[in-house]
Amino acid sequence: MPLMNSKYLLERARKEGFAVPAFNIHNLETLQVVLDTAKEMQSPVIIAGTPGTYKHTGVSELVSMMESACASRNMRAILHLDHHQDIPDIAAKLNAGIRSVMYDGSHFPFEENVANTLKVAQLCHEMGASLEAELGMLGGQEDDLIIDAASACLTDPDAAVEFVSRTGIDSLAVAIGTAHGMYKSVPKLAYPILEKIAAKVSIPLVLHGASGIPDEDIRKCISMGIAKVNVATELKIGFAGALKHYFEVHPEGNDPRDYMAVAKQAMREIVLSKINVCGSAGKSL
Ligand SMILES: [Zn+2]
Repeated sequence: MPLMNSKYLLERARKEGFAVPAFNIHNLETLQVVLDTAKEMQSPVIIAGTPGTYKHTGVSELVSMMESACASRNMRAILHLDHHQDIPDIAAKLNAGIRSVMYDGSHFPFEENVANTLKVAQLCHEMGASLEAELGMLGGQEDDLIIDAASACLTDPDAAVEFVSRTGIDSLAVAIGTAHGMYKSVPKLAYPILEKIAAKVSIPLVLHGASGIPDEDIRKCISMGIAKVNVATELKIGFAGALKHYFEVHPEGNDPRDYMAVAKQAMREIVLSKINVCGSAGKSL
């Protein structure tokens, strides 16, 4: 079964008022947790990996794992490139079969972001892949991508209209006050900005940095046009926290089948809760 793009699923999500959760995974176990939970909840799901994740797993290894894991569960899911910035690298991953891409040129000046995003959009669309791009800039850290608070800026609604029409992207990542990583205090989201963007831009909108955002805020964003919600940090914390606790209680433990089971269970609870917040249960592909 070929890997899918995310265009039609996200368009449907925005139209029907739910969001597709995108979970960052890092290995076989974290992939299994997300797919098993999504299957159980009959939820569509996006499996996301940053450049660092694909480097860690190997591109062909992750593609093969994804294909065989979906086939053995008789389900469909989307494998996605999260925060990719290197165009030849994106092209190579398209050639490896991946059909859902996020190009992040948000750190460039507007014209440069437009020019690069347009180039990637053409590349993706030729291959039948979908493209998400970002305007405005989230603070925080996602792998090697570190943006300090002073450089972070919210998405300008009028610039968003121009960006979407000049690039032909399929979904738009917006900066409305969320950040990557966990928050020291709960951020205040810029709802008036999201409202303006949603009124002017009809393609699905994407919320990055959802780890640690209260459920009611995520639900409100979804009701306003967010169709994809990215979750990464919260999963890592849950998985690693369960492992740490396991080894505190079982310092002699050494069987991956035992300690991975505990970590998977902890991560499953988070995946389950995000699927519920996204309202995506029962909407499977
Ligand atoms: Zn992100």
